[in-house]
Amino acid sequence: MTASQAQFDWPYPIKWGEEQRVDTDVLVLGGGIAGCWAAIAVARNKGTAVTLVEKARTIRSGAGGSGCDHWEHAVTNPCCPLTPEEITQAQIDSNDGYNNGISHYIEAKEGYDRLLDLEKMGGKIRDTEDEFEGAEFRDEKTKLLFAYDYVNRYTIRTWGTTFKPALHAECRRLNVGILDRTMVTALLTEDGKQGGRVVGAVGFHVHTGRFVVIRAKASILCTSRPSRLWLFTPDLAGISEFRPMQACGDGHAISWRVGAEFTMLEKAVRAEWSGARSFPPYGTGNTHNTWYPCNMVDATGRELPWVDRDGNTLETTADRCRPAPGQKFFLKGGGETWFQKYEFLGPDLPPTEELIRMGYKLPFYADLSSLPEMERKAIWGLMIGEESKTKIPIKRMYEDAGFDPSKDQLRSYGDSWWSAKFKPSERQFFGLPGGLVNNWELRTNLEGLYAAGDTLFASDCHGHAAATGYYAGRHAARYAMSAQEPMIDENQVQRERKSTYAPAKREKGIAWKDLNVSITKIMQEYCGAVKSDELLTQGLNVLQDLREGEGASVFARNPHELMRSLEVLNILTNAEIVIHSSLVRKASCKQLHFMRSDSTEMDPPEWHKFMVVSRNGHGVRLRELPIDYYAPMGENYEKHNQDYIRENSI
Ligand SMILES: Cc1cc2nc3c(=O)[nH]c(=O)nc-3n(C[C@H](O)[C@H](O)[C@H](O)COP(=O)(O)OP(=O)(O)OC[C@H]3O[C@@H](n4cnc5c(N)ncnc54)[C@H](O)[C@@H]3O)c2cc1C
Repeated sequence: MTASQAQFDWPYPIKWGEEQRVDTDVLVLGGGIAGCWAAIAVARNKGTAVTLVEKARTIRSGAGGSGCDHWEHAVTNPCCPLTPEEITQAQIDSNDGYNNGISHYIEAKEGYDRLLDLEKMGGKIRDTEDEFEGAEFRDEKTKLLFAYDYVNRYTIRTWGTTFKPALHAECRRLNVGILDRTMVTALLTEDGKQGGRVVGAVGFHVHTGRFVVIRAKASILCTSRPSRLWLFTPDLAGISEFRPMQACGDGHAISWRVGAEFTMLEKAVRAEWSGARSFPPYGTGNTHNTWYPCNMVDATGRELPWVDRDGNTLETTADRCRPAPGQKFFLKGGGETWFQKYEFLGPDLPPTEELIRMGYKLPFYADLSSLPEMERKAIWGLMIGEESKTKIPIKRMYEDAGFDPSKDQLRSYGDSWWSAKFKPSERQFFGLPGGLVNNWELRTNLEGLYAAGDTLFASDCHGHAAATGYYAGRHAARYAMSAQEPMIDENQVQRERKSTYAPAKREKGIAWKDLNVSITKIMQEYCGAVKSDELLTQGLNVLQDLREGEGASVFARNPHELMRSLEVLNILTNAEIVIHSSLVRKASCKQLHFMRSDSTEMDPPEWHKFMVVSRNGHGVRLRELPIDYYAPMGENYEKHNQDYIRENSI
């Protein structure tokens, strides 16, 4: 494609081949929640320069850019009687050990500090207008509102649509160098070697195509997790999955190429959302997450009972927000959360025998109208308003269409928040999926490369991204202060420049959407719900064929399509990592939703460990980590964070 051809349809000046060079101390890759907090931590470390590179626009980008209705695990808030140890251990136990004890301990220990920080920047975290005065979930002194467990009060209801603009303004105030609309396409390593110290990155501007080379002493990967591996909707590409389209796991692919270690990527759950096949997240009646603890009724208006973990019926809405007798606290969404008594599999599946025996009539509805007013206002007004992708598509559009939560009910499509039934082979990364392996500095196995937020293994949630982002920023800044000058290998820069631009050099070829669809078909076929060595190996071969065939002919007519094409090539790499991760786990594992047809063993004790994969010059390297490799949490945290502990004890 020539520049003039591109400009014909393209509203921005095309600058293929132009190059921008940037030198910085710490480079933050991805300007979502973790990335902004990482940049802020570095910038607060006086004398350390920080550059943040964001594919979209930092002011609203990422999964948390449009909102956050609840901030989880803020146990150090003055109303919570729990300790960081208790809440982190409960999260580890409820996942049978397959969890990130480091990052979730950081979340519990520092998450509330970040929320207070955010308030100083202009984020709204309290009911300052006294809209919920007198509500059971409000603390009258602090005006904080809590969700789920009203006794232990560790999840805070927030006005999260205010958060990202506040973070962006703080980055600007602290002189963070922000490169918006810039896609990172590769990491640079010392001497250009795989496994070497990470010394920067390259990328390009997604409007102009200008190439960017950034040299940095330390880099922090904050690019979220992979998506679109099993599901992609070409005509509704932007809502193919739960998280935003541009956060599709580029960071995983580019760090894999230079030798970073990953674990738990064999875990993928049956899909819950995709394109037109499902209603938008939070847009159907349910009792989960944002909709907790809504009433559910059947077609005749008969209420479905709720029970506690011991099967005792709960009489009031308030009972659903208190631990059971003898239980100290409960985790939202964990096995110990309260749910309706009878399983409802959705209108397209026969009702369970129990439902029939009890005489309930389908369909079911979430009934906001019969909730106490404060609970109704908290779900529909605050949480649906502030959740994220809900303010406009759900709250505003449903209300514009006449929905009145004080009168109307909303159709339910099954327990939890399902709104469609996906095939078992249609999978998604949801609920603590795998990712980069980290140590107590949130450093990866590569010198100079740190990671935070949803990039980490077993990661999730806004508060987790904020806390780990800030933490990684602190540690990366400390490293950068004493690190040697980074040396960029110009041969590597030229190699990466060539492969970045390759799709734009082709006159014709396959379109990125077609390539993405092909990957999903292969993943469903060879790496679906039930796996075997034979299928997985065939899957790797087919992916290899795809890479060498259609992958090598994907073409882009402008910088935007170049971004999309490179994303899909990264998705292809992520599919390969998932298959490698699946190949090395030889026994089925319930917690990881990992089933093998060529092993009859389910959770044998010798497989209760993390399988860690990385790439080196000879192929894929395997290492094992004990399931509690991070223990003891409190001691290790203190060992690595004396500065922070000192500063915060003043
Ligand atoms: C609809 C929805 C509702 C949610 N609600 C809540 C909630 O109420 N409470 C809660 O705790 N959690 C919630 N979450 C989860 C929470 O938003 C995420 O866990 C959190 O945003 C993760 O932060 P992150 O920084 O890791 O990723 P993100 O915030 O997604 O940021 C990743 C950033 O990396 C950028 N990026 C990706 N690739 C590149 C590249 N190659 N080059 C440059 N930049 C790149 C992306 O553009 C993006 O800005 C919700 C998520 C969604 C999708």
